[in-house]
Amino acid sequence: MSDRRSFLKKTAGFAAAAAGLTTCLPAQANGQSSIKWDEEVDLLVIGSGFAGQSVAVNSIRAGIKVTVLEKMQVIGGNSAINGGWFAVPRNPVQLAQGVTDDSPAELVKDQMIAARGMGNEAMLTRLAEMALPAYNMCLDAGVKFKKDFNIQVGGHNKARAVRLESGTGGGIITKLYEAGLSEGVDYRLQHKVEDFIMDGDEVIGVVVRKGYRFPDEGTGHLVKIRARKGVVLATGGFTRNMKLRSIVDPSLDPSLDCTNHLGATGEATLAAMTHGALPVHMNMIQTGHWGSPDEGGFGWSNALLSIGWHKGIAVNPTTGTRIMDERADRLTCSTAIMACRHKDGSPAYPLVFFNKNDHLGDSRVTRAVRDEMAWEFDSLELMAKKFDVPLKQLEATVEQWNSYVADKNDPDFNRKMDTAVKLAAPFVVSRVWPKVHYCMGGLKTDLDGRVINAKTLAPMKKFYAAGEATGGVHGHARLSSCACLEGLAIGFIIPNTIKADA
Ligand SMILES: Cc1cc2nc3c(=O)[nH]c(=O)nc-3n(C[C@H](O)[C@H](O)[C@H](O)COP(=O)(O)OP(=O)(O)OC[C@H]3O[C@@H](n4cnc5c(N)ncnc54)[C@H](O)[C@@H]3O)c2cc1C
Repeated sequence: MSDRRSFLKKTAGFAAAAAGLTTCLPAQANGQSSIKWDEEVDLLVIGSGFAGQSVAVNSIRAGIKVTVLEKMQVIGGNSAINGGWFAVPRNPVQLAQGVTDDSPAELVKDQMIAARGMGNEAMLTRLAEMALPAYNMCLDAGVKFKKDFNIQVGGHNKARAVRLESGTGGGIITKLYEAGLSEGVDYRLQHKVEDFIMDGDEVIGVVVRKGYRFPDEGTGHLVKIRARKGVVLATGGFTRNMKLRSIVDPSLDPSLDCTNHLGATGEATLAAMTHGALPVHMNMIQTGHWGSPDEGGFGWSNALLSIGWHKGIAVNPTTGTRIMDERADRLTCSTAIMACRHKDGSPAYPLVFFNKNDHLGDSRVTRAVRDEMAWEFDSLELMAKKFDVPLKQLEATVEQWNSYVADKNDPDFNRKMDTAVKLAAPFVVSRVWPKVHYCMGGLKTDLDGRVINAKTLAPMKKFYAAGEATGGVHGHARLSSCACLEGLAIGFIIPNTIKADA
């Protein structure tokens, strides 16, 4: 279905069947003028996460009228529930900490290592160069970041991750939403985009289920909205679409828990593909190595392990030995963790532990212990007993680790030792197992955000994609704190593209 006529043919049948359809398509359609639009707008942005919000706010500031369509009852998608980590080379806290040798290029170097030969260096560079403007946009909108906080997270060679004061991306989403509203962005909730209306290679509008109530697919009614200046697909990833996920990556164990919001189902990406949009790297689905099997979804584990990866070690409970460089990127760590199995193949959840006394009163610890996804032990013996770990080997592992800390050298995994400390009881212990987390795959775009056509490999007209809905940017592994950057940064690029394409 690659053009407007085929769309008309396709939709005529289901349109008639759809209860509550407000408009009728003419039986014979011979030109754009024959489409009965329910409404005409300038720019349509689909999705209200980081990418949608940033495109919307920057577009309105560039003088483009914007309508944002969001299918859920609330704004924000994954962005609203995310952990609030944001990679910003040369941010003011970093500079105040004396880290003055960072740059967008340094970040891209790290990202390309994690990408394992499959990243898009030019796109990563464009995005990284917009990190500081994106951070400043947040500050201007009133977003609050944790004071004096900037740390080095997995796979990065420098401390460059700031974090939201609230500990969640919702802190950005609400402020950008307020800014957008006050500047004239038209936001519509419960508007689920089901299809695109094409005129050849140009997207001219969308079919929307208005009044949709997730997850009841039949709710609301279908309307057609014309988009004069273009359509931006910012609909996020698809990790909650189990059918699609298992088709593109059958190796992902279906029993793995998932961190994403329930609406991360990817139907708009699939609809765009039926009109010729090129998908890339759809099978590259990231698992977050900081998941805990002792809580659902994202939970407390990620925050707790921001201590554990730096101050503790990860141990296989069946052997009592360390399993990885605890500060490596997600793919490296997830692979090492998932290799820990009992003889029958069932998961042997690795233990991550650090010194309790160094973090007394830290809310990352107290709430995890309170909610029983972490435990405190006065000795290695008690820990070994609880988790059935060979005690002698566990003691030997800790002794050896402490000698590595003294030498500032980890000959086993070559971990960077600047934040490592000697381990001494009592300990805080949690168990880890990866969770399905992020789609590296999605629609291929050019460097300006235009969706690429699968047949011509040229940009489609007035069709743009942003954020996690795009693919081929991060290659095999997206680095921690870089999705926030990606979504917010592309919002500075696409409005210029739209103006250039007008
Ligand atoms: C729990 C969690 C923690 C994370 N923590 C971090 C972190 O700390 N730092 C970091 O950099 N990254 C983090 N990530 C990743 C990051 O949050 C996401 O990659 C990013 O938020 C994606 O932004 P987005 O705008 O592309 O998509 P989303 O934020 O998912 O927004 C897409 C929106 O589109 C809507 N939508 C989808 N389909 C349709 C449709 N057909 N019609 C209308 N609307 C539609 C969705 O409902 C959703 O609201 C985390 C992710 C999760 C799940």
